[in-house]
Amino acid sequence: MKRSFCTAVGLAGMVVALACGGGCGDGQGGQRKAGGGASSGASGGGAAAAQPPAGEWLRGDLHVHTHYSHDADRFGDTVEASIRLAEHAGLDFVVLGDHRVVDVLADPQLTATPTHLVVIPGMEWGGAGHAGAHNLSHQPPYVSQSGAADPLRAIQDTIASVHAQGGFFVLNHPMDPKNPWLWPAHGYDGIEIWNQLWAMRRVAEITVADMQDWARRHGNLPLPPEALLAAGARGGGSNHQALKRWEALLEQGHKLAAVGGGDRHYAVLPGEPVTLVFARERTRAAIAEGVRQGRTMVARAVNAARVEFAADADGDGVFESIIGDRVPLGRSIQFRVRVVDGEGGMFALIRNGQELVRQPITAPDETFTFGDTPAVRSWYRVDVWEPLELSDSKARMLRSLVLGTAGQNGLLSGGLASLLSSWFGSWLQDLQDIVASGVPAAVWLLIHGQDLGVQVAPVPSRYPVIQWPERVSRILNTDPLAPEYCRAVITSPIWAE
Ligand SMILES: [Zn+2]
Ligand SMILES: [Zn+2]
Repeated sequence: MKRSFCTAVGLAGMVVALACGGGCGDGQGGQRKAGGGASSGASGGGAAAAQPPAGEWLRGDLHVHTHYSHDADRFGDTVEASIRLAEHAGLDFVVLGDHRVVDVLADPQLTATPTHLVVIPGMEWGGAGHAGAHNLSHQPPYVSQSGAADPLRAIQDTIASVHAQGGFFVLNHPMDPKNPWLWPAHGYDGIEIWNQLWAMRRVAEITVADMQDWARRHGNLPLPPEALLAAGARGGGSNHQALKRWEALLEQGHKLAAVGGGDRHYAVLPGEPVTLVFARERTRAAIAEGVRQGRTMVARAVNAARVEFAADADGDGVFESIIGDRVPLGRSIQFRVRVVDGEGGMFALIRNGQELVRQPITAPDETFTFGDTPAVRSWYRVDVWEPLELSDSKARMLRSLVLGTAGQNGLLSGGLASLLSSWFGSWLQDLQDIVASGVPAAVWLLIHGQDLGVQVAPVPSRYPVIQWPERVSRILNTDPLAPEYCRAVITSPIWAE
């Protein structure tokens, strides 16, 4: 599903490679930071006070393609190179999944490559609508709903097969206007609410008309109401629409994990964004279990601010409930949010889709507690934003191009666009699509990226891979709805019920 943006970034990578003559430094602006949120301790037992679960937060990319994907066959990397790239990105685990094939499973490099990473084989399932079907031991009964006599049956049988294998099934880029997931399926484990770079995902947001058109072409299936609702969220980009769709499902009581995926095909590193999964141990099975339990967060990259979100349901001062857990109704619950290295940013605590509080983060290590007594089923989660560093004009220019991509402050919008459309017709639409595609931002990075620290990653790959410092990563993840900030972390909820 990587299209014009990555092609252009790939081009940028080539040109930067030429400009560097292969001798660029290997430093990376963003330093990997120690893992946050790890908690350990005995499971509560007997009369002892309840303790947080034992385990640790692992960081990985749930959406990485290898050369087995048809759209990465020319520039994509082998299984071994993909693992090396994930190591270079500082990840703890990586999920390798290709379009409608499980070739990674049979590839000897899957198990023969020495690595400290947990490597999870999976696939990007489906044609009209993509999903991640991961931690597989064999191919599910279907590789796609497209072409199946009964597409919904194919989806449900696949979800059952993936679960029987100890895997998990998540909807990928569900609000992509060109290829959304609009099947009224059930039983899946999560939603990819952050695909690629927050502000540069796709040309545009999906509309209700796009969805109705999709339904007409796919047997007039009833559209999921939460998707129709989320299509009304405008101005934040299609990742924001996916976030709103996930929240609408949480409101219905569905225990779905928020996941992210770099959707890397080539030219860039995996791990932007990362999905953090709380796992009781460093194994494929434990990571899959963590996703199914909703013990996840999505973060901009491994160097994003670190967040802990926990609750104390029994008033003993021990925050024993973590993300994905349940606390009881009718009791005073203390919630604690801790943000490390988020200074200058802000965070929001959200209850049932409403922001209870949004406030600036003024210290390098800040903790906020909040008490609530939920009377009805409720969900609580946290969003964190980081500040952009825009002191020089090149950084500001890049942000303008990124915001143009997201459709906010676009070069052509509103009444002016419709007036110009009447003169220039489809040519203007083409121009608008180009602006929104991310190509201008990528081409601009090609020319000016070195001034902002963009360089070729010193990693073996079939095609040059570029990496950018944390400052550029933040700009590429600008939140169009709060454009002085980037999205940093989005947590799954703690439930009260
Ligand atoms: Zn896809
Ligand atoms: Zn993909």
